[in-house]
Amino acid sequence: MSVRKLAAGNWKMNGDLAALEQLDAMVEAAEDASCAVLICPPAVLIHPMVARVAAGDLHVGGQDCHAAASGAHTGDIAAAQLRDAGATHVILGHSERRADHGETDATVRAKAEAALAAGLTAIVCLGETEAERDAGRTLDVIAGQLDGSLPAGATAANTVIAYEPVWAIGTGRTPTDDQIAEVHALLRTRLSERLPDGASVSLLYGGSVKPSNAAQIFAIAHVNGALVGGASLKAEDFVPIIRALDAAQG
Ligand code: PEP
Repeated sequence: MSVRKLAAGNWKMNGDLAALEQLDAMVEAAEDASCAVLICPPAVLIHPMVARVAAGDLHVGGQDCHAAASGAHTGDIAAAQLRDAGATHVILGHSERRADHGETDATVRAKAEAALAAGLTAIVCLGETEAERDAGRTLDVIAGQLDGSLPAGATAANTVIAYEPVWAIGTGRTPTDDQIAEVHALLRTRLSERLPDGASVSLLYGGSVKPSNAAQIFAIAHVNGALVGGASLKAEDFVPIIRALDAAQG
């Protein structure tokens, strides 16, 4: 069964209007590639980024949304507002939001349901801490996060799962191929049990993906793409990652 490949960039709290010039080469690479390409900039850059990519083959997404449709939530953004600004996807439950803002699996699920209701694709992030891995709890943690965070109404068309070990994010460290394979196999099995089209849900790996390790990571079974932080900020890093995903089997 074919699974949609996705190269997704998370700019986190980086970038400004001048940084949008990085988009031009990324759009070109996206147009040449069969995989989908997405950049999730800070919210204030979504609309100008959508304008810059124009009809180009590069999607723009948010990094978070509120679970409510609207209301008295100062500083928050509703999923429909992201959609209105031109976003097609939203990252939810990134470990930095779970850590910095106390987001639980239930919070993430509620936000993901709001995203689906607004017509966005939810990219739900999961990942173990180093202490959890050292304690041999990785698979239990991931299974629990998946069960707790997966939105009602999830399908392969509206939901993407990103496995991002917390200890690999921004550290330059990556799990072994076997460690990634083990978690992605668990995700595939569990999603196939829970969703009629769970075998087709895109599964991303995230955590220190760079041009030098992308091809190796994309060769791992059930890795259908990547969620990339630091290496998505510059076209010279992200374009080779897009190309590596495009060239990967699967
Ligand atoms: C991320 O923030 O989702 C991420 C994977 O960051 P980095 O690629 O910089 O490790």
